[in-house]
Amino acid sequence: MDTPDSSLVLHARDLRRSYGGRVAVDGVSIELRKGEVLGFLGPNGAGKSTTMRMLTGNLLPDSGTVSLCGVDLFEKPLRAKEGLGYLPEIPPLYRDMSVDDYLKFAMKLHRARTDALAETKARCGLADVGKRLIGSLSKGYQQRVGIAQAIIHDPDVIILDEPTAGLDPNQIREVRTLIRELGDRHGVILSTHILSEVEGVCDRVQILHRGRQVYCGEVGGGQQPIEAGFNNPPSVDELAGIEGMASVEALSPNLFRLHPVKGLDPTESVVRLASERNWKLQRISPARNSLETIFAELTREAS
Ligand code: ADP
Repeated sequence: MDTPDSSLVLHARDLRRSYGGRVAVDGVSIELRKGEVLGFLGPNGAGKSTTMRMLTGNLLPDSGTVSLCGVDLFEKPLRAKEGLGYLPEIPPLYRDMSVDDYLKFAMKLHRARTDALAETKARCGLADVGKRLIGSLSKGYQQRVGIAQAIIHDPDVIILDEPTAGLDPNQIREVRTLIRELGDRHGVILSTHILSEVEGVCDRVQILHRGRQVYCGEVGGGQQPIEAGFNNPPSVDELAGIEGMASVEALSPNLFRLHPVKGLDPTESVVRLASERNWKLQRISPARNSLETIFAELTREAS
């Protein structure tokens, strides 16, 4: 029997969902651990919100399962949701309520600890605005209130759907810092169509395209690849034999993507050998990383 993985706070398997015969989500699986921020990235229409709604029990999948801290979301929804905080794309805020009254209401709803109000306000930078009406706050502060209602019961899993949409650059920076801090204590899923958001905030990313998962990997994990072009190109084996080179891809007969060994930079060796062996170096520069390349290809196709 498998040993249960206690750090696994959310496990979704093979989620599928159609709307009137049109497939929106087609076999998506997600694993989330405590202490990580997972970016869920994809162009508009990729199926992110549909997936988020299934992960939070707001939409039934056609097939597939979701468990939160080992509890099946569709069999025991109330118990499973005790460990879940959710900020939908449109935050569920009451503009005519004060921040304190609204958060007290959220505390009752989630059966939070009685001392949760002050701590949550402090974590979200809301300590000075408790008496203010939500409708009178800036969008950035309103978003903090949205995040506060999602974390007030100290859930293991926090799901944030496009949390920086519609904010100005300063507000975006503040909200991203807050999300990063949440990632130290909770498991966080952040859906977004902005690549830099994933790079700035997330530990791991899953890219969705037309309902399918097309990429899953660590953010900033590997070494930055290098692209090198030659008029009199060497063989792949010759390049791969250079000290500090992990692998080499031929992009065309004259152009190569070089993957360095972690911590090493073979650029100087390539330049020196090119001159010694008359490879006629045209250019050598850092390549775009694979995440950027994949996402650029996806978004180009989708637009
Ligand atoms: P994203 O959040 O990545 O922008 P969505 O999950 O909102 O993507 O949408 C995925 C696909 O499902 C899109 O083609 C969208 O038009 C379709 N869709 C989403 N919600 C509905 C709905 N309620 N009824 C019909 N089609 C929908």
